[in-house]
Amino acid sequence: MILTALALVLAGPAPAWLARSAWPSRVPRAALVLWQALALAALLSALGAGLSVGTLAVLNERPGTGMLILHGLAFAFTVLVLARLLWSAHTLGVSLRARRRRHRQLVDLLGRDDRRAPGAHILEAPSPFAYCVPGLQSRLVVSSSALEALGDDELRAVLEHERAHSRARHDLVLEGFTALHNAFPRVVRSRAALDSAAGLVEMLADDAARRRTGALPLGRALARLAGAPVPAGAMGSGSVTPLARIQRLAAPGDEVHRSLAAAVYAGAAAIVTVPTLTVAAPWLAELSAYV
Ligand SMILES: [Zn+2]
Repeated sequence: MILTALALVLAGPAPAWLARSAWPSRVPRAALVLWQALALAALLSALGAGLSVGTLAVLNERPGTGMLILHGLAFAFTVLVLARLLWSAHTLGVSLRARRRRHRQLVDLLGRDDRRAPGAHILEAPSPFAYCVPGLQSRLVVSSSALEALGDDELRAVLEHERAHSRARHDLVLEGFTALHNAFPRVVRSRAALDSAAGLVEMLADDAARRRTGALPLGRALARLAGAPVPAGAMGSGSVTPLARIQRLAAPGDEVHRSLAAAVYAGAAAIVTVPTLTVAAPWLAELSAYV
């Protein structure tokens, strides 16, 4: 029962609080790990709720009818979440990969090279945009008007940002959050985790670009590309507005927030440990009785 309640809290109110907080933008990597811990703990709790019904049977307790109904509901919730997770991960993976494969073929067909943007595919387009089509063989795409609008150092900053997405496989991080979001029943899930994770990977890519090219060219490039269209399946700008990202670049980097990051990592570890121990403890107790 505790685990079902915990699963509901981890899927609803906890993400809502974290999404409203301002501090994650100061330690995006730690915040992303915390979001992953929350997601994992919500999943473990949902699965553990069903497992605990099994534990009850093993322990040979004789619960009343009310308890039996509650445990039945917990078990049904577990089966529902697990089935939906497997299904949504599968369908999402298949459709995303097909969409990106078509996108890569199109880019390879229509794109041209430019010595100012090594490794990128240039598409003729009136609006200035740049994005990354992620995958094992990712593509960096820059529009011809972005090429004209951006100075050399700004272009380098944009390319470093997109390369950071593709290097760190931010697409897989977001795919995991999307699959988990789709797995939880509509009444208990929130988009907070998904939107926040999308914003945090943008900040991480910004930080990677800032370390290589400095904050100023990246900030100027973000301003020039603000509002640029990004096709579905590509790495877009997430939930963070370009203005918020530019303001963030003006502030000092994450190296000055070491203790905050350490606290967040510790919190993430605790969030995953509690449901794991709650599930494992009754089983271990039962095992030790037989040994
Ligand atoms: Zn990005």
